[in-house]
Amino acid sequence: MYTNYYFFFILCSYIASIAITGFLLVRMHAMKSKSAIMLRHSLICTFLTAITCSVAMQDTLPSTSMLLQTIISMISTWNIFFFVLFCRRITDEGNKVNRFLHIGYRLLVVADSISLIINYFTGCLFQIVLIDPNTNQYAMLTYSPYVFHYAICYGSLIYSFTLLLVTMRSLPRIYWSRYYWITLCLGLLIIWDAASILVPGFPNLNVIGYALAGLFAYHLSLDHVPVGVTNQILSLLSKQMDYMFFFFDQFGRCLYMNDSACEFLKTDLTRTDDILDELSEKLTHQLDLQEDSSFEIELQKDGKTLTYAIKCSGLTDEDGNALGRSVLIFDYTKEYEAYRRTRYHATHDRLTGTYNKDYFIDQAEKLLNANPTEEYLMITSDVKDFKLINDTLGTSQGDRVLKRIADILRNLTRDKELYCRLGGDRFALLMPRRYFDEEVFIRNSTDMIQFDQMISYPVNVYFGVYAIEDRTLPVATMIDRSFIAINSVKGISTHRIGYYDDSMRSNALRAQQLTAELDAALRDEDFLLYLQPQVTVEREVSGAEVLIRWNHPVNGLMMPGSFLPIFEQNGQIAKIDYYIWEHTCILLRKWIDAGVSQYLSVNISPTDFMFYNIYDVFTELVQKYQIPPNRLRLEITETAIIHNIDETLILIKRLQDYGFYIEMDDFGSGYSSLNTLKDIPVDALKVDMKFLSASKNVSRSRIILSSILAMAKELKLSIITEGVETEDQVVFLREHGTDMYQGFYFAKPMPIEDYEHLYLK
Ligand code: C2E
Ligand code: CA
Ligand code: CA
Repeated sequence: MYTNYYFFFILCSYIASIAITGFLLVRMHAMKSKSAIMLRHSLICTFLTAITCSVAMQDTLPSTSMLLQTIISMISTWNIFFFVLFCRRITDEGNKVNRFLHIGYRLLVVADSISLIINYFTGCLFQIVLIDPNTNQYAMLTYSPYVFHYAICYGSLIYSFTLLLVTMRSLPRIYWSRYYWITLCLGLLIIWDAASILVPGFPNLNVIGYALAGLFAYHLSLDHVPVGVTNQILSLLSKQMDYMFFFFDQFGRCLYMNDSACEFLKTDLTRTDDILDELSEKLTHQLDLQEDSSFEIELQKDGKTLTYAIKCSGLTDEDGNALGRSVLIFDYTKEYEAYRRTRYHATHDRLTGTYNKDYFIDQAEKLLNANPTEEYLMITSDVKDFKLINDTLGTSQGDRVLKRIADILRNLTRDKELYCRLGGDRFALLMPRRYFDEEVFIRNSTDMIQFDQMISYPVNVYFGVYAIEDRTLPVATMIDRSFIAINSVKGISTHRIGYYDDSMRSNALRAQQLTAELDAALRDEDFLLYLQPQVTVEREVSGAEVLIRWNHPVNGLMMPGSFLPIFEQNGQIAKIDYYIWEHTCILLRKWIDAGVSQYLSVNISPTDFMFYNIYDVFTELVQKYQIPPNRLRLEITETAIIHNIDETLILIKRLQDYGFYIEMDDFGSGYSSLNTLKDIPVDALKVDMKFLSASKNVSRSRIILSSILAMAKELKLSIITEGVETEDQVVFLREHGTDMYQGFYFAKPMPIEDYEHLYLK
């Protein structure tokens, strides 16, 4: 029955199986995935089966043949078992493990092996019988319990086959190529195996079948994803992606464009041709460069500006020859706008839309570096009484003022100049000197803002100008210097623009220093009260003006002119004045207790009105120290009264009603006409000789003085003349009806002890 050819053919199939599985086992030895391990186990079984089968083909004793057949049957079951596990892995069924079924299946395989071992001793499943003593050929005689073994093997094979089929059905066609060779192989194996069992003499080729199934399994699922699959997937990917994709060959001809790209060019974009031109121009350019590049273009569509990002990259073959360029275009509008918004907020002031400080400094540095020969000015601005506007009219009105200032700056600048809001009510501007026109700035420094129908408010802006000489200075320092220049004109109603010079800086430093020392000086009582006597026509001392001195630990005795203006500017004078007022009250209390009847006269600075309710402060002080109000005279400067005439008139009236004696200090230094004087209900005028002697024409100033004195007499106002230095002056003043004198001619201001020693006997 067996021919030599047949024998040879079968042997070849075993050898081929050994070669295939051996080769695969070597290739797979390093693979660690679960599916690879399962397949490897299965291949080892095929390898062993092929060897055992080859051996079994030799002339052997029946008992040897029985042993080999037992081994082959056992290994086959395990082979199929591992193949089933492999199929489960590659079809994703392996992730849905049902432990119970899995253990059951394993037990069945083990039971099969045990039954085969028992059979070796008992022959209850199959036996090897000699069918031809001449050729010494054996055949396998199976009994019905052997069906159990067939059932396990075929059941497993059919299960794997079905699993693969079902999986294929559920997957898109593209992926079928990963499965159908294995499935086909399995199908053939099942049929062939069945035939070799059922049809006597049918050649048994299942070993090579398993080897081939293993080969396909390895190749298609572990080693290599079929090219067709990747190609199809990639082409679908490029076809369907949102990005527009073009491919141009090395001559710049378009070889491929995806659906989005076609759509993009079809739309009624007004500049379609331009884009293609632009693109191809860029591309030819880029091809020369052989570099990848990205850029953006803006297009108008349906009245909207769209931003497209374009990315070009070169494609080369494996040898590095240029094949062309791929161009990826996508609508970048949303991201770009978001980017622009964040960038805008990071560089601009939200309220006014001007640059913010950091960005201004950054840009200013760049501008200065880019124009090394151009002379520049750093100009800053500050709004007069901005805090007052904010406090009284509300922040929303304050915001309106700031916006208006930003508009003013916008009008003052040309294209290439920079301006920004530094913060608060402060703005900065960097402009070439040749464009600066003082007249224009002054004209723009006052603006009337209509807050509502009722309120319109004059907004005054001060400007500080620093001519940039030293370009190595940080821009922040340039800004500081221009602020110093502002401070030099603040509070001077006739000036709007201050120009920086170096003395200002040292003054500013000094001011800073003194301000830092102020609180300690108040605490340590470093401020002294000096008294200058006021003398009657009869040359009797009736009282004194209190004048401050700072007994400074380093600078020595400082005159008020060297520190008061600084504190007047920053408002700190209010603290100092209160200190003087209270110490004056303490001194008066002491004098009253000692039976002294003289009065003391204190100065009230115009700034004090902004910080205090003057009426409350003084009435509380005299109550606290139990002083008759007429013993404390109050000197209010003419400018302070004129500045806010309606309110001060009421205040003066109330203070007088309470019993205070009010003097108008520095009369004649301000601008009040004699006419306004009649409405101001002060008790006395203090006329300073220095304002008159400032005029070179002595006779002229005497005429003025005599008419003031005459007028005061008519209005029944007392006159105190201060700054009296000569006997001459005294004679003239007495002739013209002055009531009191104060001046170096009589006495200089002196410490309290000296005064008490000289005049309180
Ligand atoms: P003032 O209120 O006009 O004070 C008179 C100034 O004239 C004093 O200068 C006084 O020393 C000076 N003086 C008096 N007689 C003569 C004279 O015959 N010839 C000349 N050339 N000067 C004379 P002082 O003490 O330096 O004070 C200057 C200014 O400082 C004061 O002017 C006043 O405005 C201010 N001041 C002084 N003490 C205080 C204070 O406690 N509070 C406030 N708010 N201001 C004060
Ligand atoms: Ca005074
Ligand atoms: Ca005075």
